Amino acid sequence: MEAFIAVLILLAAIGIGFGAACCSLASKKGHSTTTAFWLGLFFGLFALLGYAIARPATRECPTCHEPNYFKRTTCKMCGSPLQSAAAPDSQTHPGPLQM
Ligand SMILES: [Zn+2]
Repeated sequence: MEAFIAVLILLAAIGIGFGAACCSLASKKGHSTTTAFWLGLFFGLFALLGYAIARPATRECPTCHEPNYFKRTTCKMCGSPLQSAAAPDSQTHPGPLQM
């Protein structure tokens, strides 16, 4: 029984390690870190490889609709300021419906 628990703890530690690694990669590329953690926890090396080859997330310029890398603060084409990382999400999801 102790061996089983030891293996379980070892697997959990490995999963959390992969989760943290995926989190770090996702954060650098502008993807959701929560999703990355869970994918890393359950899929381990496969999720890590997926994030390693994944392209950085982009967001669209509100003025010229050109895709820009997530971390940019101004548009690469027209130079207009891009919204902060949290702002587009709060605009597309205005909250619970009011009846
Ligand atoms: Zn633009």
